[in-house]
Amino acid sequence: MSKVVKVLKLRPATGRTGGNRNRHRALVAGGAGFLGSHLCERLLLDGYEVVALDNFHTGKKYNLNAILPNQKFTCVEHDVVDALPSDLHVDEIYNLACPASPPHYQADPIHTFKTSVIGSLNLLELARRHNAKIFQASTSEVYGDPLVHPQPESYFGNVNPHGPRSCYDEGKRSAETLFFDYSRMFGLDIRVARIFNTYGRRMQPDDGRVVSNFVVQALRGEDLTVYGSGQQTRSFCYVDDLIEGFVRLMNAPQAPLHPVNLGNPVEFTIMELATLVIEYTKSGSKIVHRPLPVDDPRQRRPDISFARENLGWQPRISLTQGLAHTVEYFDALLYGGHHVKEA
Ligand code: NAD
Ligand code: UDP
Repeated sequence: MSKVVKVLKLRPATGRTGGNRNRHRALVAGGAGFLGSHLCERLLLDGYEVVALDNFHTGKKYNLNAILPNQKFTCVEHDVVDALPSDLHVDEIYNLACPASPPHYQADPIHTFKTSVIGSLNLLELARRHNAKIFQASTSEVYGDPLVHPQPESYFGNVNPHGPRSCYDEGKRSAETLFFDYSRMFGLDIRVARIFNTYGRRMQPDDGRVVSNFVVQALRGEDLTVYGSGQQTRSFCYVDDLIEGFVRLMNAPQAPLHPVNLGNPVEFTIMELATLVIEYTKSGSKIVHRPLPVDDPRQRRPDISFARENLGWQPRISLTQGLAHTVEYFDALLYGGHHVKEA
């Protein structure tokens, strides 16, 4: 049964009149989250009318503070698992709705799975009803603990279907299946991005992912918690680079026939990341080791040849530059900018 939709600020649908149909109304599911709030801002700058739809599970209303006064922005509280408002006229849909941090997506794994699968179905049906272009935020987690390195889009992955990460990994894999079946059956224009670890401003201090954990721990003078030996690797992309990739993929004249990797191909061990964060923040924090979570992927690095060659996209912001922005953000949020001023 559908939940009552709480409208924070909603104006009547304007329909599809007017000359520029391609720059009309975009729906961002998960729009109050880390990536979603940056995407809403970018789409407004690009001239779209934007509707953010979010259940505020991990997203925050204050992420939208800067754009709430914008006349072309609307925010609706809604869970994508529930039937969507039928009068929501949209030309483009971005599906970012899903908790992305392991502690959050594992807290209620069944709802996580439903969010990916039923949420995608609901949004795909909406896209079909309005003949809207639809984007899916898929993930490098579809490669699981990869046996091919770096990971090209053609790799089918190595995923445990019944472990604690499976609700997320298999949910996202199933969503990819649905997207491509809607494309094949109904000719829907779909864009599927496989996103690799992205970090930056507007992550929550309690998000639980590694960059925000380390930066917050370093600023608080707490021990940095490295899970396992810290020799596992990840490739970290700064949020601004990723959002540029989203927009290029969505606006590419031809829909790619497969998902597209978006991420930064420079790979770091988790120990290297911890050391960099301590150095940059000049923190007195020590590194401590905690047990490695079950099925934690040992290595991850995107092969972004397709995005480079077909979207003209590649990340521009190094980990050091991105960490500087992220430290500044958390320092302002937690301490009013005290540490950065002192450094
Ligand atoms: P996030 O947790 O900040 O954002 C997720 C947003 O979705 C939040 O605002 C949350 O409240 C909302 N949401 C969750 N379940 C919902 C539901 N059932 N109905 C409506 N809204 C719901 O995480 P993020 O990093 O911004 O991730 C955004 C998307 O990108 C996710 O789909 C995630 O799987 C994907 N992704 C992110 C990364 C990354 O590194 N940031 C990597 C791979 C994939
Ligand atoms: N990790 C860590 N300490 C933390 C949080 C995470 O060592 O406080 C490790 C985690 O085990 C994984 C890597 O950092 O190997 C990236 O974890 P994150 O949760 O950010 O992303 P994901 O595992 O989904 O790639």
